[in-house]
Amino acid sequence: MSLKSWQDALAALASCGMLRRLQTVTGPQRAHVHMQGREMLLLCSNNYLGLADHPALVEAQSRAAAHYGTGSGGSRLISGSMELHEQLETRLACFKGTQRALLFNSGYAANTGILQGLMGPEDIIFSDRLNHASIIDGCRLSRARTLVYPHRDVAALERLMAGEAAGRKGQWLIVTDGVFSMDGDLAPLPELVALKNRYDCLLMVDDAHGTGVLGAGGKGTGEYFGCLANIDLHMGTMGKALGGFGAFVAGPDVLIQTLLNRARSFIFSTSLPPAVVGAGLAALDIVQSEEGRSLRLRLEQLRALVTQHLGPDICTGFDGNTPILPIITGEPQATVRASAWLQQQGIFLQGIRPPTVPEGSCRLRMTLMATHQPGELLQAADLIRKALSA
Ligand code: PMP
Repeated sequence: MSLKSWQDALAALASCGMLRRLQTVTGPQRAHVHMQGREMLLLCSNNYLGLADHPALVEAQSRAAAHYGTGSGGSRLISGSMELHEQLETRLACFKGTQRALLFNSGYAANTGILQGLMGPEDIIFSDRLNHASIIDGCRLSRARTLVYPHRDVAALERLMAGEAAGRKGQWLIVTDGVFSMDGDLAPLPELVALKNRYDCLLMVDDAHGTGVLGAGGKGTGEYFGCLANIDLHMGTMGKALGGFGAFVAGPDVLIQTLLNRARSFIFSTSLPPAVVGAGLAALDIVQSEEGRSLRLRLEQLRALVTQHLGPDICTGFDGNTPILPIITGEPQATVRASAWLQQQGIFLQGIRPPTVPEGSCRLRMTLMATHQPGELLQAADLIRKALSA
């Protein structure tokens, strides 16, 4: 069998700076990592609070493995529902202030499962244009009619909803990232809550990047805006600020029961290993503690410092008080060049290209961690400025 068509396709990607390659990090996801035998400042990890190698999580994970073993042995609906899963679900429901929560194996599995499990061909999903790929795929799997509204444009969304209101059948759901993953800006949640009330529909927020980071208690974008209780479905992940792995949805009991019965990514997959769930419980303890509060404060301070130092010309795309700073580079080749040059200077900052971001808006997606030191971030900001002008 000839592999030529795939070889040609890869060569075409390489020729326009679009080929993706793995870059291996040795050691834990700390502010400094080792790559190819060199120490690098890590500026592209979602380990925002620095919990991914926190001694309390490592200890909880080892304890859970020692007590419950390494594998869950089955899907949740067969033999793989362990007491740790239920403890974490109870904690997550309490954290988000909902009746119930359900674990999924990843954020990708959660979004595809939630949308496929709750929505069907009679229904309409209203989805922000810059929502995460897993939401886009969930919309497709649901077979619901999906109407995409311009990014954060509540007026345009309202026009779409008004246009559909006559002879309405089926359920409606508005879905949005809380913090947009590639831009770090925030969904206009208070306005979306007003619309969901006006049109009597569900509001689902993917808070993969807000959970643990935003709000006084780290409860996410809803808490930040003071409208946590008005969100119907809170999706969150444990793989980012919570320093572990896995994901969840929190919401009303009837919707969680529906998902437990219908969401294919939940039903047909082995449940999370107990060690991962143990780490999730320990992460929630920290997020809700004084330590969590001071890590969030530190992140805010680092963000203020870096944005001030980078200056308004580079920070034009920064919006929302989050650790995600999109430094726009435009075209793929320039992005790859800037990222490679920074790597030579000891800075690991990946370039992001289509289809992850729209054509012409490639970027260096810089992410801050509470464990970064101010001085090293200022030096990195100077180098980033140089990389952009080279
Ligand atoms: N939603 C958003 C907004 C994300 O950024 C991501 C991860 N990139 C996911 C969902 C998927 O989460 P996970 O990595 O846990 O699959």
